[in-house]
Amino acid sequence: MPAPAKNIFLFSVDLEDVRLRMQDGLSYKPRVEALVEKYLRFLNKHRSKATFFTVGDIPEYYPGLIKTIISEGHEIACHSNKHIPVTHQTKEDFKNDLLQNLENLSNAGATNIIGYRAPIYSITEKTAWTFDILSELGFKYSSSVLPAKNPLFGWEDFGEQPRMMNEKLFEIPVSVRGTNFLNVPFSGGVYFRVIPMMLIKKDFEKHFSKGQPVISYFHPYDIDTEQESFMHPGINDSWFYNKLMYFNRKNMFGRLEEIMEQFDCKIITYKEYSESINGK
Ligand SMILES: [Zn+2]
Repeated sequence: MPAPAKNIFLFSVDLEDVRLRMQDGLSYKPRVEALVEKYLRFLNKHRSKATFFTVGDIPEYYPGLIKTIISEGHEIACHSNKHIPVTHQTKEDFKNDLLQNLENLSNAGATNIIGYRAPIYSITEKTAWTFDILSELGFKYSSSVLPAKNPLFGWEDFGEQPRMMNEKLFEIPVSVRGTNFLNVPFSGGVYFRVIPMMLIKKDFEKHFSKGQPVISYFHPYDIDTEQESFMHPGINDSWFYNKLMYFNRKNMFGRLEEIMEQFDCKIITYKEYSESINGK
């Protein structure tokens, strides 16, 4: 008899380099390789395979990195070629950008890519045309919707259940708190560093007790304690948001270890998860 499903934690890294989105970005230290190494050590320690949603310009600046990730058995998926939100693209722009993303990752050694995540969760009701282009290009799943009202993007009524968006493609939305106040993702990026741990644990508990997986996202910068201080791109030069971008990075792995230990989580790739729900 198969073992009962454990608490599934869909840990993932959005593999991108913020320097490449800034005008003078290359004057700062390249940090991505060292940070990916830390994530790989964490995954290795827990004997887990995870998904790296990767921007197409990464191999150009970090040759060999994709092969290292693949050689450890992890999944490479797409995260656009230049990290432009879908809302800023025409259908043609979106398709061409994604083809370049696929080509760059394939030249770097990643084949059979079936997963996609939009930059900044920018698939909303208005950009739902993306799903048909994704399946046309051979993608089988996307994890690009934030199912709540959000100042940036968000698809409020989507719900948290994975859903077929056409005959071929699943959307696996990011987990949100499901509360009236502060209904935000709790298992990724800045939120995972800022929200009190007591609440984050309750959110994990709530999902796992209903048999739901926790869908997450982390970035290289989320664990970077050695990055120079600069204004991050994409936050409208807000001093406050920039403070949050740097907040509590040093405790990220400590928090992750607490979650892993308390819930005895099982980390699997999105590919494995999407195949498991496809069979149902
Ligand atoms: Zn991103």
